[in-house]
Amino acid sequence: MSVNKRKRKNIVLLSMFAVTVILLVFCVVFAFKLGSLQSQIDDLKEARALKLQMEVASANAAVGQEETKVAQATDGQDGENEPSNSQNESSATAAPEQSTEPDEADVPEAEPTDTDGTRYVYLTFDDGPSKNTERILTILDQYNVKATFFVNGREDAVNMERYRKIADAGHTLAMHSYSHDYEKMYACMEAFVEDYERISALIESVTGERPTLYRFPGGSSNKLSVRKVSMTALADFLHGEGVEYFDWNVDTTDGEGPNRDPAVLISNVANSLKNEHNVILMHDAGDHDTTVDALPSIIQTCIDQGLTFSVISADTPAVHHTISD
Ligand SMILES: [Zn+2]
Repeated sequence: MSVNKRKRKNIVLLSMFAVTVILLVFCVVFAFKLGSLQSQIDDLKEARALKLQMEVASANAAVGQEETKVAQATDGQDGENEPSNSQNESSATAAPEQSTEPDEADVPEAEPTDTDGTRYVYLTFDDGPSKNTERILTILDQYNVKATFFVNGREDAVNMERYRKIADAGHTLAMHSYSHDYEKMYACMEAFVEDYERISALIESVTGERPTLYRFPGGSSNKLSVRKVSMTALADFLHGEGVEYFDWNVDTTDGEGPNRDPAVLISNVANSLKNEHNVILMHDAGDHDTTVDALPSIIQTCIDQGLTFSVISADTPAVHHTISD
């Protein structure tokens, strides 16, 4: 081998060695860089996780505050909504605002009250007083529940005593017209007003206060052919007097005939207590003994369904049928 050839071989070997060393150094540097990059990524991840945790914690705190606010608001509404027997002038005149809602189903649902889930039931008796009034009062007393009596005008001594017993027991005396004579009281506005004044004065003579609740004979949705005056006009008149009218949304159907099968009345109630404010229609009348027979079971059904008993007052969301005029 010549000297030249050996020199060339050495140079090649040296170059290869140098390239290998450079590559090795490069690899080491690259590996080091990669390592530090990974740790930076880890740091970032950790920081992000911490931030998320803090966000969740503050969101939870906010939800907690909202819940407290909602709970406070609910408490406040409960206080306002607690149905009471006292019907003062201001709350009575405030009631007509609800009259613009003609749909029966809309009325109780539209009230943004009772977010705590309390559901109410109002026992109402039309057409009294009668020979059954005492029996009804005894049963109500046994269950310690109060009811609303939409009464007619009967000024004999026996019936005057019955009005007093109703009021003295803490039940509410409300108007159901003096005469309950469709042809007479619905003949014209003047006749209705005259009838209204008579029943209002009669109840005031018993309780010392003008009554503020009215139930139209036949209900506000009646389509009586003998009626010659518009129901809207009558409703407007009552609202002008500071009086609210109430229909019903649970019908025992005891009004469909005398002494109907009590089992039918009970099951009608049991299947209809679907509202937040359930107004049950019953009759206090001489030929409705089976309504009284059914009353304990009707009350027990309401208790079993977890309802709170109350009397209708100016604070009760109005239950209105659709007036057809
Ligand atoms: Zn009636």
